[in-house]
Amino acid sequence: MTDKKTIEDLASARDKLERLAQLYAMLSRINRSIVRLDDPYELYENACRIAVEEGGFLFAWIGLLEPGGTRMQAVARAGAPADFARVRGGAVESTDGWSPSGTAIREGRPCIANDVEAELSPASAWKGILRDVGARSAAALPLMMENAVAGVLVVGADKTACFLDGELQLLNEVAEDISFALRMMRREEERLAAETKIQYLAYYDAETGLPGRALLAERLAAAGERVVLAVSLRRYHAILQALGQAAGVQLARTVAARLETLLPTAVVGRFNPSEFGCLLQPPEGLHAVEEIVWQLHQGLAEPFLIDDSEVFLDPFIGIAMHPHDGNAADAIDAAVLAAGTGAKGATGCCRFFVAGMDGGSRHQLDMEAALRRALERGELELHYQPQVDVASGRIVGAEALLRWQRPGHGLVLPSQFVPMLEATGLIVPVGEWVIAEACASAKRWQAEGLPPLRMAVNLSARQFQSGDVGELVRRALADTGLEHRWLELEVTESAVLLNADAVIRTLNELKSRGVSHALDDFGTGYSSLSYLQRLPVSRIKIDQSFVAGVTSNPQSAAIVRAVVGMAHSLKLTVIAEGVETEGQLAFLRGLGCEEIQGYYFSRPLPGDEFAALLRENRCIPPALPAPQRERVLLVVDDEAHVLSALRRSLRHSDFRVLTATGALEGFERLASHPVGVVLCDQRMTEMTGTEFLRRVRDLYPGVVRIVLSGYTDLASVIDAVNRGAIFKFMTKPWDDAALLECLEDAFRLHEIDCQNRELSSRLNEVTGNGR
Ligand code: C2E
Ligand code: MG
Ligand code: MG
Repeated sequence: MTDKKTIEDLASARDKLERLAQLYAMLSRINRSIVRLDDPYELYENACRIAVEEGGFLFAWIGLLEPGGTRMQAVARAGAPADFARVRGGAVESTDGWSPSGTAIREGRPCIANDVEAELSPASAWKGILRDVGARSAAALPLMMENAVAGVLVVGADKTACFLDGELQLLNEVAEDISFALRMMRREEERLAAETKIQYLAYYDAETGLPGRALLAERLAAAGERVVLAVSLRRYHAILQALGQAAGVQLARTVAARLETLLPTAVVGRFNPSEFGCLLQPPEGLHAVEEIVWQLHQGLAEPFLIDDSEVFLDPFIGIAMHPHDGNAADAIDAAVLAAGTGAKGATGCCRFFVAGMDGGSRHQLDMEAALRRALERGELELHYQPQVDVASGRIVGAEALLRWQRPGHGLVLPSQFVPMLEATGLIVPVGEWVIAEACASAKRWQAEGLPPLRMAVNLSARQFQSGDVGELVRRALADTGLEHRWLELEVTESAVLLNADAVIRTLNELKSRGVSHALDDFGTGYSSLSYLQRLPVSRIKIDQSFVAGVTSNPQSAAIVRAVVGMAHSLKLTVIAEGVETEGQLAFLRGLGCEEIQGYYFSRPLPGDEFAALLRENRCIPPALPAPQRERVLLVVDDEAHVLSALRRSLRHSDFRVLTATGALEGFERLASHPVGVVLCDQRMTEMTGTEFLRRVRDLYPGVVRIVLSGYTDLASVIDAVNRGAIFKFMTKPWDDAALLECLEDAFRLHEIDCQNRELSSRLNEVTGNGR
């Protein structure tokens, strides 16, 4: 008797083990298909098929919630007869009976029937369905997306009691993996969208959809002989200031439309917000050109109706001839330069470009003469801005930035004179001086016993065109004795593009001797992957315009995330420019960005001050090790007394409470602390609570979001809830106990989400699916 019992026990244990092994095999096959597939629908089909073929289930079925959350849509099934289609498009049931699409979805937890006949009430629509397919036990598991139930996986078996502890745990993992894959796919979609956007922005003007300068230059180069017009709208910025950004966009689109009407056969583009460009078939004779331009000017001088106000743009048109005035880029520059005379007092409605045109304006002449003397008189100097390694916190490099101590004007920044240096060709001798001076400083600091660092020098397109950069670098290094490996050249994509083959050859040649190269202002140029692969750069500098918004603007965050991912996949390191706050640093650190440069650590400094900084050995603080499972709550409210009342209410809780008096401060806190739950006021000055939380959702999907508002602004709040932007809505004045309970729930939800993520990544490691 005992023996028989033992044998039965052993047999049952063996069956159970075999069953678990079978389920493990199923899990790992589903995981493999997660890695291979990038279409969610294929993944659903595959998962159902594997559950039946490998997992031995009678059927598997996946339904997703339709927007609005009240109806289910069947998206995949296997093993179920056609009759199963009855549940397609079914409403989410609210009966008390067993109903996977109801319970699992409403409550976000598995719903199990180990004996369909005994456990399901006759009223349940599912009972008939399950009975028809011969299922004697069934389980429904929620699929989660960004903290919310997105759908359900239902499996059935032909035996009873098929969903006990071990089996259920494995099935849960399957559901979690599918959920995880869905989240990853959504992120991948966002990343691709951001990448496409970068490329789009490089070629097109985002406001009007017209070609940008680079694309227009390409079109011009391909078109051959053309008249190039630069249409400068002299009052554009004043109007923008008066009417606001939105009106500016509307105005730009109206101008674009009018230009296209006035010049139906021209290629129209936009060089910058206040300057449009047009490429025309050249008519016979200069006089005919003048006639066309005069007509165009008349048409644009007419008022534009924006927001019920009539505005006048005061246009002025610069004219250049391609290829007479140079190659495509030069001809565009020439037209822009001619249009620029309109801002400097030129009369009339247009101006042809003439060689030496910059001499046309006194100001420019003065400046040019002064700049020519500047180099001889030693008025130019270099400031150095530290580049800091995020991991060690130490200074690893410096960027040399040009400054002009102009007598009577004080310190002049490069934006005010580098374009003129480039236009006059003075950048060639100045650039030569910059490299020599920067190398000399780097060598001197080494000789003083300071830790050696990489010295980065900016190069402009013109230097590659008119000077022998290779030779110049060799000379500077030889003269100063600085080793090649301590020099880095910063180039922009536009500089490379102007003469790609020759520039790439020079850069390659220098690289082979140990000089490194960085791609400056990344994100503002072409930013195309194929180009990047051709460039011998080892580092990408993310432009400061993207860094500025990383903590508060989901779009900037997505772009920076995409750029870092892209750079790393090409085995390039990333340095972020313009890092000004601790929050930005924390965000970039989280992405694995290797280096930063910006006011957060230091402004560009004169040489002696920079050396003092090096001597001081100043570092950025290392990342704080994340305290284990600390519950960090962020409260955002622009009224100080509400914040202190909330602190009082929460003084006995075990939460670490951080406060912020506005959305922007809130973003900073979020970037620098491991916040799990955000509690936020609805009416705030910088943006509404729901808008703030919508961005928080996009930036930090795992953070649970709650609105606390004195105004029962129901419509917007319901909308936010429906769009998944918030977890709960609470009203002021609050009840301490209810608030605490709500926060407890929120933290539990957050912790479950964290565990899910951890589990998924561990599972991926174990099954070798880590991507
Ligand atoms: P860049 O190479 O992108 O240099 C970075 C610019 O960002 C510098 O402006 C720097 O002062 C500024 N910057 C750094 N950190 C921050 C920050 O946290 N916040 C903000 N708002 N700005 C920050 P700078 O010195 O005015 O130089 C402007 C541009 O002029 C440079 O952009 C570079 O393109 C050009 N330039 C500077 N020196 C040279 C040079 O020697 N040769 C050439 N060809 N161009 C130069
Ligand atoms: Mg630079
Ligand atoms: Mg830059």
